Amino acid sequence: MCSQQVELGFVEEAAPWRLRSDQFPCKVGGRPAWLGEAGLPGPSELRCGVCGQPRAFLLQLYAPVQERPEAFHRSLFLFGCRQPSCYRPAGPAPGSLKVFRNQLPRKNDTYSYNPPPEEPPLEELPSVNLQLKCGARLCRVCGCLGSSTCSKCHKAHYCSKDHQIKDWKAGHKASCLQPEDVIPDHKFLFPEYEIVREQEESDSVAVNDTEQEDLDKNEGTTTDEASELLEDMSLEMMAKHETPEDRIFQIFKERISLEPEQVIRYCRNGEGPIWISGLNIPLDTDIPNCQCGSKRVFEFQVMPQLLAHLNVDSLGESIDWGTLAIYTCAVNCDLGNHYAEEFIWKQDISNSV
Ligand SMILES: [Zn+2]
Ligand SMILES: [Zn+2]
Ligand SMILES: [Zn+2]
Ligand SMILES: [Zn+2]
Repeated sequence: MCSQQVELGFVEEAAPWRLRSDQFPCKVGGRPAWLGEAGLPGPSELRCGVCGQPRAFLLQLYAPVQERPEAFHRSLFLFGCRQPSCYRPAGPAPGSLKVFRNQLPRKNDTYSYNPPPEEPPLEELPSVNLQLKCGARLCRVCGCLGSSTCSKCHKAHYCSKDHQIKDWKAGHKASCLQPEDVIPDHKFLFPEYEIVREQEESDSVAVNDTEQEDLDKNEGTTTDEASELLEDMSLEMMAKHETPEDRIFQIFKERISLEPEQVIRYCRNGEGPIWISGLNIPLDTDIPNCQCGSKRVFEFQVMPQLLAHLNVDSLGESIDWGTLAIYTCAVNCDLGNHYAEEFIWKQDISNSV
């Protein structure tokens, strides 16, 4: 994937088979399409740091790293709480959200050495897959590791007491011990879509003509000229009653206006995120190193447009963010062979805009 140019992600409806693990999908919502089967995050890692409820799967990106054979397959998994009030705090590692990295070499026990078929499979697949190839069972509600079972039927698996109760109330109470045990709608998973990616057109990068001219002019000018130029710019901003805050928001809007449906901006170790506000922009020192000791680099950002596809609008408070910036281990260390936690920075739209 991208080293310099930004890749944009858009949501699209897709046939269910395309979103299964062996297709190495990029997707939003539904259950996670786990990559590696070892070291899945457990219930305690998936609990919201604010309310303590299990987080729901939000999205995953397939993002292999060519130069690293251990990361021939590589996916990032993002989880988020369903409780709107848990999204109030902004800044580093908000408790409502968590991201994991997982990677596998090309030769592994789970997937074929060859690329997956591009045709739909001939045999009918079960609509919901609650068992990994290795045999491990997944929770009926969230699709995460489900190590406890219903004590009556011993067939339904759950990640937690919370999800067992949710399933019981939503329909398992009536269908437990019945031959047809249909999985009810728990109103827990986010709507499912494929994420398709496209390179951002370079002409859409022309942020703003005058701004680019200012920058061009700036090159090769002396310090005096540069400060004069800055003064001119701030006079211009004052004349327009524009604050630096407005300016950042304006740049954000201009940058996305040519592809307003974008939900993801991906550029590992290249151009940084575009911020939606001047508040709460992290310094380098705000991004903690990976557990292995290496620096973390910016990899992708989730745009506020994704919220429109999550059916989270309600009359009261909704799940909300300005943008989510995801930072990952610069060297893709082996910790990712289990699901290693990476870092999220959440920025909100400033109230002054
Ligand atoms: Zn929560
Ligand atoms: Zn669960
Ligand atoms: Zn049961
Ligand atoms: Zn690392």
